[in-house]
Amino acid sequence: MKFSAIPGYEALKGRLIQAANAGQVAHAQLFAGSEGGFGLMLALAYAQYLNCENRSESDSCGSCTSCNKSQKFIHPDFHYLFPLAKSKKIDSDELNASIPMFREFLGETPFGTLNDWAELATYENRAPLINIRAVRETMQGLQLKAFEAKYKIQIIWLPETMRSEGANSFLKLLEEPPDFTIFLLVSDQPERLLPTIISRVQRITVPVPSEAQMVQFLSEKTGESENRLQMAASLAEGSLPLAFSLLNEKEDDYHKFYMDWQRACYKEDSAGMIVLSEHFHDLGRELQKTFLKYSLEKTRKAFVLSGMGGEILNIQDQEKIDLGNLGRILNQEIVATMMEEMNKAWVHIDRNSAARMVFFDTSTAIASGFKKQKTA
Ligand SMILES: [Zn+2]
Repeated sequence: MKFSAIPGYEALKGRLIQAANAGQVAHAQLFAGSEGGFGLMLALAYAQYLNCENRSESDSCGSCTSCNKSQKFIHPDFHYLFPLAKSKKIDSDELNASIPMFREFLGETPFGTLNDWAELATYENRAPLINIRAVRETMQGLQLKAFEAKYKIQIIWLPETMRSEGANSFLKLLEEPPDFTIFLLVSDQPERLLPTIISRVQRITVPVPSEAQMVQFLSEKTGESENRLQMAASLAEGSLPLAFSLLNEKEDDYHKFYMDWQRACYKEDSAGMIVLSEHFHDLGRELQKTFLKYSLEKTRKAFVLSGMGGEILNIQDQEKIDLGNLGRILNQEIVATMMEEMNKAWVHIDRNSAARMVFFDTSTAIASGFKKQKTA
């Protein structure tokens, strides 16, 4: 992966490149990023740059033997340590079997979360972690000399998933690193790392992707319209996988769902609410939360729109008509109820409450708000 595959971060990339060219590469570095962000991609680009045979002042060449192999994740001097399904005994065969799968992950979704990885590797409900056995195998592998490249690169994705036994073995490795070995740790939750590990690494803070960075990245990958890219980037709040799932939703799905929901609440239509609760349940937790945020935003806009006689920016025409109509039946009190209930629902979903129930309860609370308004 080249640096150019990652939008933005010019100063950060500049610092990494400068250190490489000055021969001042710290032997252990921590890319401290956020879930669904660019941390792993930056580490991969840096690793490729370090061993590129023909690098420029701004990027790796992308075409030398080393770049070719590292782009396919098959360079013999690049090693990967990553979470595996929790299992007491993992043997070498299992470890080896997981590598092609991890290469696929790196190739397709290097911005993916631990959950995305668990889904791809079909770990289902078992939370993956970096196994002590995997740490030991890594230590043995690093004792060998570099085969082809200047540096042996050890990428450690999500070191926070190591249990204490694994973390302590790993610490020994950091204390007595093999020659010409560079450890690149990539963490989504650096606050969970042992202080003893933190104190032995050079920290590189990778800020949460901005909306502009996300729009640029999504646009190159999907070619969607500017409007949809903006919407996905703004709702996903720095999570690239979430932005991609939003873009996979059909154009007007959220809008229709939101309008159907508010209609059902207004009409106190319990049967309709049950059907919508099932639909909500099927979205999955991340999209459920996103839909609730979307609903908060639309409720606010409907209310503002009713007060402003229809002129508001950033809203598509059919949406404007629908929200304008909805706005006409909203007063300040019901809007406050709706927003409070939607916020509460978001918190419940975040805490893993049963989605169907949460949605149905929220709907009945909003419906009784409407009822109160109608009888007032
Ligand atoms: Zn190269």
